[in-house]
Amino acid sequence: MILEKMIALVTGGSRGIGRAICLKLAAMGATVGINYVANPAAAEETLRQVEAVGGKGFTVRFDVADAQAVQEQIKEIIATHGQIDILVNNAGITRDGLMARMKEDDWDSVLDTNLKGAFLCSKAVMRAMMKKRWGRIINVSSVVGFVGNSGQVNYGAAKAGLAGLTKSMARELAGRNITVNCVAPGYIVTDMTDGLTEDVQEALKAQIPMGTLGTPEDVAASVGFLASPDSNYITGQTLHVNGGMYMGH
Ligand code: NDP
Repeated sequence: MILEKMIALVTGGSRGIGRAICLKLAAMGATVGINYVANPAAAEETLRQVEAVGGKGFTVRFDVADAQAVQEQIKEIIATHGQIDILVNNAGITRDGLMARMKEDDWDSVLDTNLKGAFLCSKAVMRAMMKKRWGRIINVSSVVGFVGNSGQVNYGAAKAGLAGLTKSMARELAGRNITVNCVAPGYIVTDMTDGLTEDVQEALKAQIPMGTLGTPEDVAASVGFLASPDSNYITGQTLHVNGGMYMGH
């Protein structure tokens, strides 16, 4: 129970990778805030699963791209629970399309949720972390931010942006004993990738040295490590969880 007495907030914690992260952090002893925006039933199901493994948690609805909502809800969590020790900026969306046809709105909504959302949530938790002189911020990026993907200029820009945000935040917060890192998943089996056709899935597997898509639990294990005191001296890094699909830096 290495995270006992700690409070974690996982944005987009209600489904997919976020749900696996909530379960992992709860199993490590943290009380987990399960954030969602549109689907309360999924968040309740995640809470049920957290409690089923003996963990503690609560659900919290806000849109990570809505500055006022983020500020109000995070303030309330800190007032109720005393602290947020671990923030996982996981909420993400895709609005794919070739750039020539991409609407400005598809660019804005992907940048707002995936990149601005991480900025807003981090800004809202950092003061309390600075006071406590301990904190962990983990941003969920993507292999697409490092290698690119046609049809995803918006998503690729947002995810690459997260790596830059991570490094600058890590420098600003290092003196307060707050680490900021990224986890960059490759292709993981979730609702986000469920829509891919068999052919696309086979083509993807061919690009992955380990020959298989990853699981949400593969990503959650890395987040668990970066959230724990075991990663005390690691900051500003990106941990790639992708079956060998991308090995550069
Ligand atoms: P899912 O689509 O399965 O789940 C997305 C989660 O984000 C849901 O909990 C959803 O809540 C929440 N969410 C979406 N928009 C907002 C918002 N504006 N405010 C708050 N919560 C929001 O996604 P995945 O689990 O697949 O992805 C999780 C993260 O991992 C994302 O950042 C994604 O980019 C990244 N990733 C995923 C990969 C994959 O292969 N699946 C690969 C690489 C990175 P609700 O249901 O209420 O809308």
